Amino acid sequence: MTEGILDGKLALVAGVANKRSIAWAIAQALHGAGARLAFTYQGDRLEDSVRKLAETVGSDVVVPCDVSSDESIEAAFDQLGQRLGGLDILAHSIAFAPAESFEGRFIDTSRHAFVTALDISAYSMVAMARSAEPLMAPRGGGAMVTLTYMASERAFPKYNVMAVAKAGLECSVRYLAYELGPAQIRVNAISAGPVRTLAAKGIPGFDQMEAVIEARSPLQRNIEAGDVGNAALYLCSPLASMVTGTTLYVDSGYHAMGM
Ligand code: NAD
Repeated sequence: MTEGILDGKLALVAGVANKRSIAWAIAQALHGAGARLAFTYQGDRLEDSVRKLAETVGSDVVVPCDVSSDESIEAAFDQLGQRLGGLDILAHSIAFAPAESFEGRFIDTSRHAFVTALDISAYSMVAMARSAEPLMAPRGGGAMVTLTYMASERAFPKYNVMAVAKAGLECSVRYLAYELGPAQIRVNAISAGPVRTLAAKGIPGFDQMEAVIEARSPLQRNIEAGDVGNAALYLCSPLASMVTGTTLYVDSGYHAMGM
C-alpha cells in the first residue's frame, strides 16, 4: 500500500549501528516506499557494518558524523548536500549516556553524565535539524523524526538521566516543529516500547520492561523494530502531511494504562 509513496524523496538515516538498530528498521521501511537513502555513522568502528547494510538498500552515501562535535555535524551535512543536492527526510535515532548513569541512583548523576546524555541524546536533534533545514526548505519542506521513550513522562527505575534527556528531546521536537512549520518541515517523535538493540543492552531491568508490556499492555505483546519503521514511514510520508510537533506511541498501547 505504501509502495512508491516516497518515490523521489531523499532521506538521511542517522543512528544505524547494526541490523538490530531501530534506525535500520526505519531505513528499510523508507527504502521499501521508494526513498533514496543516505546514512551517517558514529565512528570508524561502525563504518564497515553501516556501509554493508547501506549497500543492501542501494545506497553508497555513507558519511561519518559524531554528534558530539559541531564540526563533524557540519562536515557531514556539507557532504550530504553535495552528494544528494537536498534532503526531504531526516530520521534521528541516536542516544547515549555513560554506563554508570544507569547503575546507581538518579540523585547521584554526575554533572558530566547529565551533560553528556542531554548533549548526545537531545541537543544532537536540534543541531541536525539546523543543518538539515537549508537542505529541506528549498525543496518545499520535509519531515524529521526522532526516537524517544515514555520514561520521559513517568519514573522508570534505572532509566535515570536518559529519561531527562528524552524529556528534553520531546520538548525540542515541539519547538522545532513550531519554528520549521512555516517552511513546511514537520518534526515528530516516536515513543517506542522496548526493542532488543545494542543501546537496550545497557539498560538494567530491560527483561522486566518487556515482561511488563506482555503482562499489562492492551496488545499483550512486545513491539518489533519493524513496527517503529512503519510508524516512521507514516510520519515521513504525505499520509502525515498535517501532523507535526507530536509524539506517536508505538508501545502496544502501554502508555494508555494506569496500572
Ligand atoms: P542502537 O545502539 O542500535 O542505536 C543507537 C545509535 O546511537 C547507534 O547507532 C550509535 O552509533 C548512535 N550514537 C551514539 N552516540 C553517538 C554520537 N556521539 N554520534 C553519532 N551517533 C551516536 O540502539 P537503538 O535502540 O536502535 O537506539 C536508537 C534510538 O531509539 C535511541 O534514541 C534510543 O534511545 C531510542 N529508543 C530505543 C528503545 C529500545 O528499546 N531499543 C526504545 C525507545 C527508544
